[in-house]
Amino acid sequence: MAKLPPSRPDLLAHYMSLDQGDSIQAEYIWIDGDGELRSKTTTVNHKVESIQELKEWNFDGSSTNQAPGHDSDIYLRPAAFFRDPFRKGNNILVIAECYNSDGTPNKTNYRHYAKKAMDLAKDEDPWFGIEQEYTLFDADGSPYGWPKGGFPAPQGPYYCGVGAGKVFARDLIESHYRACLYAGVNISGINAEVMPSQWEYQVGPCAGIDMGDHLTLARFLLARIAEDFGIVVSLHPKPFATGEWNGAGAHTNLSTTSTRTPGKGMKAIEDMIMKLEKKHAEHIAAYGDDNELRLTGKHETGNIADFSSGVANRGCSIRVPRHVAEQGYGYFEDRRPASNIDPYRVTGLCVNTMLLD
Ligand code: ADP
Ligand code: MN
Ligand code: MN
Ligand code: MN
Ligand code: MN
Repeated sequence: MAKLPPSRPDLLAHYMSLDQGDSIQAEYIWIDGDGELRSKTTTVNHKVESIQELKEWNFDGSSTNQAPGHDSDIYLRPAAFFRDPFRKGNNILVIAECYNSDGTPNKTNYRHYAKKAMDLAKDEDPWFGIEQEYTLFDADGSPYGWPKGGFPAPQGPYYCGVGAGKVFARDLIESHYRACLYAGVNISGINAEVMPSQWEYQVGPCAGIDMGDHLTLARFLLARIAEDFGIVVSLHPKPFATGEWNGAGAHTNLSTTSTRTPGKGMKAIEDMIMKLEKKHAEHIAAYGDDNELRLTGKHETGNIADFSSGVANRGCSIRVPRHVAEQGYGYFEDRRPASNIDPYRVTGLCVNTMLLD
């Protein structure tokens, strides 16, 4: 059941305006055993300037599907921090990695492995840009803004739509965009999507491990702001598997020093596409749950069973943007990842396949 909006925002505003002295609040955020985000807060008695100043912390992993009850302590190791748009001031949001009591990375900790891959590949300076699509639902579980028990008019007017009846929850979307900018998330844009109440934001280009950190923080901000609005955010890749409704993806755009070099970029892109083709099944296995419902070959997707690539073709696994093919260097787009991917898992695997095989 969804949380309802605060009943007395006026009272909350009073308490949030109280002076907090030199102490700050640090909200630790992590990925739980089901791929959802969790967070909890600790007080730090001074302003934080570097990640090393933050303590290693812990939580009860038996309550988050991350550990058995008899050995439930999971350690939270701070990895990156951002400004906090909720509490403002010097308060911060902290992305933390999860480790088991024996020091091994928790099963949810794909960041640990992605960081290793990024460090090994640093000479090629991999950059990523992820387009995060998502769908909004009412607190009662029905699609946000859709007629109760029915369907809106067919797809057509909603993509990048303007005007009443074509766009839904613009107040939430604007709030999220501004909060990302305040926090320091490298958000590069937003647009309304093809299905009503489906939206997208783009994060990047981000170098290496920053991609996962910035996307995770952007997801946290959206879920947390939507909580204030009483709206539920779904990252399911195919909320409506029947009917002519688009699914939701997390197109992952990639480039390296080689692909970005005039004169040799296109050749490097072609080489990487060949490497990705050889490992199609391995990538699909890491590209999100329920993705087979989305990658049907319809609704601007390539079929899950076949690897394909093309210039400006949105029905392919890999798309090379028209302007990149024309100038002969730049980046390309892996259209296969689902909206519910772990971004560390996907970016780490891409670097392993393209640069470290
Ligand atoms: P689309 O036409 O597929 O909808 P978008 O404009 O939504 O494209 O998203 C493009 C993405 O490509 C953004 O996330 C952006 O950060 C990313 N991007 C742009 N340049 C690069 C680059 N050189 N390397 C990696 N990603 C890039
Ligand atoms: Mn307790
Ligand atoms: Mn896009
Ligand atoms: Mn899109
Ligand atoms: Mn795209």
